[in-house]
Amino acid sequence: MNDLLIHTAERALKYLSDLQNRRVFPDAAALAGIDALEVPFPEGPTDPEIIIRDLDVVGSPATVASAGGRYFGFVTGGALPAAVAANWLATAWDQNPATYAGAPLISRLEAIASKWLLEILNLPSEAGVGFVTGATMANVVALAAARRCLLLGAGWNVESKGLFGAPEIKVVVGDEVHASVLKALSILGFGRDRLQRVATDGQGRLRPDLLPDLNAMTLVCLQAGNVNTGAFDPVEPVCRQAHGTGAWVHVDGAFGLWASASQTVAHLTRGIGSADSWATDAHKWLNVPYDSGLVFVRDPDHIRAAMDATAAYLMPSAHREPMHFTPEMSRRARGVEVYAALRSLGRSGLSDLIARNCRYARRFADGLSEAGYEVLNDVVLNQVLVKFSDAETTRRVIAAVQEEGTMWAGATHWQGQAAMRISVSSWATTDADVEASLAALIREAKKLGNS
Ligand SMILES: *Cc1c(COP(=O)(O)O)cnc(C)c1O
Repeated sequence: MNDLLIHTAERALKYLSDLQNRRVFPDAAALAGIDALEVPFPEGPTDPEIIIRDLDVVGSPATVASAGGRYFGFVTGGALPAAVAANWLATAWDQNPATYAGAPLISRLEAIASKWLLEILNLPSEAGVGFVTGATMANVVALAAARRCLLLGAGWNVESKGLFGAPEIKVVVGDEVHASVLKALSILGFGRDRLQRVATDGQGRLRPDLLPDLNAMTLVCLQAGNVNTGAFDPVEPVCRQAHGTGAWVHVDGAFGLWASASQTVAHLTRGIGSADSWATDAHKWLNVPYDSGLVFVRDPDHIRAAMDATAAYLMPSAHREPMHFTPEMSRRARGVEVYAALRSLGRSGLSDLIARNCRYARRFADGLSEAGYEVLNDVVLNQVLVKFSDAETTRRVIAAVQEEGTMWAGATHWQGQAAMRISVSSWATTDADVEASLAALIREAKKLGNS
């Protein structure tokens, strides 16, 4: 075990230090190399050193260098040193955080991290917190808690009676609702086609003037941080309208919720603490390794009842029982990395990370505008949408940039236009990374003849 883990750590360190000098997306030869890992299922054991060597020699070059500073695809955070190290230690611990009895340390670390999170994100201190796989599952848990609360108010216990014959809940979403919220709603039996959609403005924000009447059987899903523009739905006016009607307001803030942690952008989250539930990702802007999402529910009774798992062999205790806050029982101890990341950054470090990424997004937007390309969104956060003349040229520029390798950003559609989407979300990104990426981007775009 000793040599194996030391050699593996050496390989991992070499991988990380090489990130600086390699292309971001693996080339065709590296991807073709993966074939070498497709061996027949072995009749007997294989030396772990050989397996790790193969995974490194063949696998490492075939990875996407999203842990480095020049990856701007989707909304992908890097992994902070403290979080990677905590992840290694937690893997060695191999704790099962389903119950306090099974892993008291993890239960306590989750409780400590929860307290810090609620403070830094400006959410109600009494909220229940679940450590889930990602924002998709955080949406599922939050909306299950909402479903329970609204139906209980109508005299229907959905956990015992199910949805057949239950009073109807009206679900309201903005036209720009994230696909993961629709997935969560469909999993929970709300159906994708019986939602009430509210039109959005030019930045993708739900228009509060078009909101239907809200009552105690309404579930409103807002988003803090549109995946294309970074824009926020107007949470404050919607919560004000919902307040007192008994409607439930859920906020999908997969990356946007972290804006609370930096004075430079915290104004975007004004009033967000008056919603009823929130979903966010730690693997996005907190920069912990995959997978790590967080769900917060104002009234902890609702998340606990919606996720309840009681059985005779699971004796209730006075401690935090992690499985009462998540769909899973046995799972990864992902709270360890969240604890380590938060503690390593501190208030100022987290604020700097958010502010720096937003400044880099601004730099991309300014540099591209100066070079004559149209930025399609108001760059209020970490997301930039740019188009290069027509849709076909935009597609060709994106392909050329991905092929060139200095950086990686993906394609999207924004209000009828093809665009490149640049998301700056990593601690690892430096000024030099941004300048090199911007230069490569402009060089490739000019080559395709639309300067
Ligand atoms: C990324 C994202 C999600 C989904 O998060 P996963 O961690 O991939 O499950 C949901 N909503 C928004 C706004 C996102 O950006």
